[in-house]
Amino acid sequence: MDHAPESALFRRLDDHVFLAELGGPTPLNVGLILGQDIAVLVDPGPAEGDHQALLAAVRELSSAELVVVNTHGHPDHIGANELLLREGVQRIFAHADAGVETATDLVSAEPVTLHLGGGVDVVLEHLGRAHTEGDLVVGVRAEDSTGIIFCGDLVREGDDPEFHDSYPKEWVRSLGRLSSMSGTYSRFIPGHGQEVDAEFIGSMRRRMQQGYNVSSQAIRDAVNDATKAIPIIPYGPGESRELITRLRGR
Ligand SMILES: [Zn+2]
Repeated sequence: MDHAPESALFRRLDDHVFLAELGGPTPLNVGLILGQDIAVLVDPGPAEGDHQALLAAVRELSSAELVVVNTHGHPDHIGANELLLREGVQRIFAHADAGVETATDLVSAEPVTLHLGGGVDVVLEHLGRAHTEGDLVVGVRAEDSTGIIFCGDLVREGDDPEFHDSYPKEWVRSLGRLSSMSGTYSRFIPGHGQEVDAEFIGSMRRRMQQGYNVSSQAIRDAVNDATKAIPIIPYGPGESRELITRLRGR
């Protein structure tokens, strides 16, 4: 059992799981899951940034082999991969459709379980296309687990979800699947924003369903100017426009 203290960067979430918030006006949530043999870093962050400080903070907490998981392919989540490879990381997991060139291990439809040692497992799972074509959620399993799952940008707290690379209809379905996992997981860590609960996931799904319905109707009604629907879509003007664009494109 690991009882490492907190570090300058990482805050403890439970016996096995730590969280760091990295930079910027919308900080990225970087997860760290510790087992006896393997430590998993979830989304190491953008290319710019103090990666040596991040690695040092990880090493303060664990000297186990470090494995990286990317929740999806956006640069603010994966930019640090290259440096970590140079620093000796040998395995980077990402979804096969995430477009992560630095990934060494690709996950597809079948969930992948990593055994970290000491009874701690991490399950990488693709719930369907959503925020991007290749999103993964990263669930922590242990006997004394508090039910933490890292959701990447599949879940967004404190701001609208980002639609520019999304598959809105499938995203609604993926959020339904995530909701249905609430028997196993109760603490949902978004890519950006505060930890949320199953109720939040349910309401995010309902709002997105409503946004999808209103936008689809607007596209059917007014083929040339669906943007008239923007005021009644339950998101700000920027993301409402992106949502319509993604729906028109297919
Ligand atoms: Zn993203």
